[in-house]
Amino acid sequence: MSGRLAMAPGARLVVATHNPGKLREMADLLAPLGIPAVGAQELGLPVPDETETSFAGNALLKARAAARASGLPALADDSGLCADALGGAPGVHTADWAETGCGRDWMLAMRRLEEALRALGPGVSRQARFVCALALVIPGDGEAVFEGVCPGRLVWPPRGDRGFGYDPMFVPDGENETFGEMEPERKHRMSHRAAAFAKLVAALRPV
Ligand code: IMP
Repeated sequence: MSGRLAMAPGARLVVATHNPGKLREMADLLAPLGIPAVGAQELGLPVPDETETSFAGNALLKARAAARASGLPALADDSGLCADALGGAPGVHTADWAETGCGRDWMLAMRRLEEALRALGPGVSRQARFVCALALVIPGDGEAVFEGVCPGRLVWPPRGDRGFGYDPMFVPDGENETFGEMEPERKHRMSHRAAAFAKLVAALRPV
């Protein structure tokens, strides 16, 4: 982790994701800073394999690859859902639980998670947390990783059709609605990504 990073206002930043849900959320978070975001897919950047065992390691790997390939400052997110009763699973494998062999099915992923919890018997803890690591790599300036956590509980059946991924089965602490039911602006204020983003903004210095 380096010291404060410089990001010129108006400078384009590549968001190292091919996930349209994540790109939309990151673009919304970056807009108030006057930083236009472009997706990795739009620039035709390859998707590196996520070979690290931590969210921070995978975020850095993706941001470094996008910065190297584009020459632009790059921001990458690696995130996932960690269930207490499952020792932090699915964790860095959160997206893999949606794999069908021919694409990703989030309803299937949520059902797998529910089944893993039920297999532990009645009264199992439904506590979980979304974790987000954001890595920013600025060519010629430096790199840093910021982590945010959103604690909550897992509910069944899933509720709501907003958001993406596991949103319909996650109720953040202190709330009654799932992330899938909530107004996106409300989710953005309390999410793991928002918490990581607040740390990132605090680390940016004006140029
Ligand atoms: P990765 O960071 O691309 O490896 O994917 C992590 C996966 O975690 C995503 O594909 C989502 O399924 C899940 N995930 C991460 N953040 C959220 C969120 O805010 N809501 C719902 N699911 C999420």
